[in-house]
Amino acid sequence: MSAPHWVNTPLLALAANHHIPSYATAERLNVPLISVYIALYMAIVAAPFTYSLAGLITFGVLSFATICLGITLCYHRLLAHRSYVLARPLKLFLALLGCLAFQRGPIWWSACHRLHHSHVDKDGDPHSPRYSVLWSHFLWAFFTHPQLDESPEQVRRLAPDLYDDPALQFLETHYTAINVLFLALLFGVGCGFGGLKMGLSILVWGGLLRIIYGLNATWLVNSAAHLWGYRSYNTPDSSRNNWFVALLTWGEGWHNNHHAYPRLARMGLQWFELDVTYAIICCLRWLKVATQVVIKPPALPAAQAWVK
Ligand SMILES: [Zn+2]
Ligand SMILES: [Zn+2]
Repeated sequence: MSAPHWVNTPLLALAANHHIPSYATAERLNVPLISVYIALYMAIVAAPFTYSLAGLITFGVLSFATICLGITLCYHRLLAHRSYVLARPLKLFLALLGCLAFQRGPIWWSACHRLHHSHVDKDGDPHSPRYSVLWSHFLWAFFTHPQLDESPEQVRRLAPDLYDDPALQFLETHYTAINVLFLALLFGVGCGFGGLKMGLSILVWGGLLRIIYGLNATWLVNSAAHLWGYRSYNTPDSSRNNWFVALLTWGEGWHNNHHAYPRLARMGLQWFELDVTYAIICCLRWLKVATQVVIKPPALPAAQAWVK
């Protein structure tokens, strides 16, 4: 099977498309989440007035911690795909970092991502760009999904290995409170070191802007890495290898490689495909805290689901 016909549709034509799936009705709008996202985006207005070097450094350090270590290394490659096994205390710490990226809890995130792999570019895929660029980038997140959000049993079916883990369930249940507490902590620490002005700088740059950046970097994997870039493997989907997304997401942009071999711990498969996250996995394996790292593509049939 080759890629769907619309894969070669010019980007502008896709961008002009404003289709959404039939299930995306007004009743399914996730109003609380939309309200939070709007509040977060208002932080952009405050950014120029709250800039400080300390705020910028906090932005960089926490972006790496929450997106590279939390989302890419833990949520995606460890939890959703089981590409390696990690010592439990470290696994839970990384899952906590993933929570701080404000992309929902580790169990729902993994269930949603497994749904993407098992239905990619077909009905059921939560964020296929076949509807429109905007849908695949962020609109999808504003609606409850009929195969994911109707009952906890749906999430359990998609991620039984994670659902029954009480520590992950704790993070899942309390991820909003964890984020609120962490933002309060950032503000408090900033105030402690440099007064109210520094507190606001650390909160806006290290908290709110950092979350917006992380959300959009991750969403680019769903949108840009299914629209722009080259294809090394003729997978039956629209996935692409996109160097820009790979740079922003520490290796996740080699998305065509990933759809060809979903369980592989490594996504950059050619010498020039930089994959920082895989380098970290190699370090963890060398330190003997990561084991059973899935590294050999020939042992895996291409384009198989996460379970294989
Ligand atoms: Zn994909
Ligand atoms: Zn994946």
